[in-house]
Amino acid sequence: MHGLLGPAEIRELAQELGVRPTKKLGQNFVHDTNTVRRIVSAARLTPDDVVVEVGPGLGSLTLALLPACRRVVAVEIDPVLAERLPRTVRDRLPRLADRLDVVGADALRVHADALPGPAPTALVANLPYNVAVPVVLHLLAELPSLTSGLVMVQAEVADRLAAAPGGKAYGAPSVKLAWYADARRAGAVPRTVFWPVPNVDSALVSFTCRQPPSPVDRRVLFSVVDAAFAQRRKTLRAALAGWTGSADNSGRLLREAGVDPSARGEQLRVDQFARIAEVAVAHGVDHSPVR
Ligand code: SAM
Repeated sequence: MHGLLGPAEIRELAQELGVRPTKKLGQNFVHDTNTVRRIVSAARLTPDDVVVEVGPGLGSLTLALLPACRRVVAVEIDPVLAERLPRTVRDRLPRLADRLDVVGADALRVHADALPGPAPTALVANLPYNVAVPVVLHLLAELPSLTSGLVMVQAEVADRLAAAPGGKAYGAPSVKLAWYADARRAGAVPRTVFWPVPNVDSALVSFTCRQPPSPVDRRVLFSVVDAAFAQRRKTLRAALAGWTGSADNSGRLLREAGVDPSARGEQLRVDQFARIAEVAVAHGVDHSPVR
């Protein structure tokens, strides 16, 4: 594969643009061609896939994605980087340049109708780490056309996203991602592949979308999950007392949902949370949705 960006090219582009990577935007650019190849191969794209890439930055991953799929729509918040990307692709992969659309926008707020071209089928990104979880959840909610994803995130966040019930890493992000998809960790990535070198470790998370486990309103389910994990050491009966109005109410509701009231949130699968939400809706306890 030609045209990928190594350390010299990244330095050159950054210098030309006067880029001073900011922590606020999680700007750590990959300057290792093996890493972008590895991300693309772990994403298991087909030639029909339409990829949404969040935060293309200088284009390291974009250039590796273009030969592997039908189109890439890249959403970049930094206007200087968004403006330069089409030219980088024209210079380095001229034959594939018309496969790319760049959207200058905040991925946390972008709407499906702001993305040109066919509906995205895969999310592949080296995410800005400070907003990685909300970006993934926002895009899954906004783009029901997604069927799979491969994201690079901070290692601890990868653990959380891919965690199964019962462990310390299992929390609200695990359950919310499990609503949409089956997720797993897809390997660690060393710090040295980035410029500048971040002070956290990184890892890949791969996910495959599937039908949600219940027809219940996702926003009600997510508010149950948030309430359960806001006080994760408490029993569900106690943790959901505020949400249901009282500990007696939550005890009744949990029993009706087939969940032991003395269990803790970290022990429950997404379908059990969904059952709680279903019973809550049936009793009119569907609190103001969070998102
Ligand atoms: N993909 C590039 C790479 O691998 O070298 C850059 C990855 S860097 C970790 C994150 C990128 O996300 C930066 O280009 C940053 O400007 C962009 N970014 C940060 N917050 C964003 C947001 N809310 N929406 C879209 N892009 C964002």
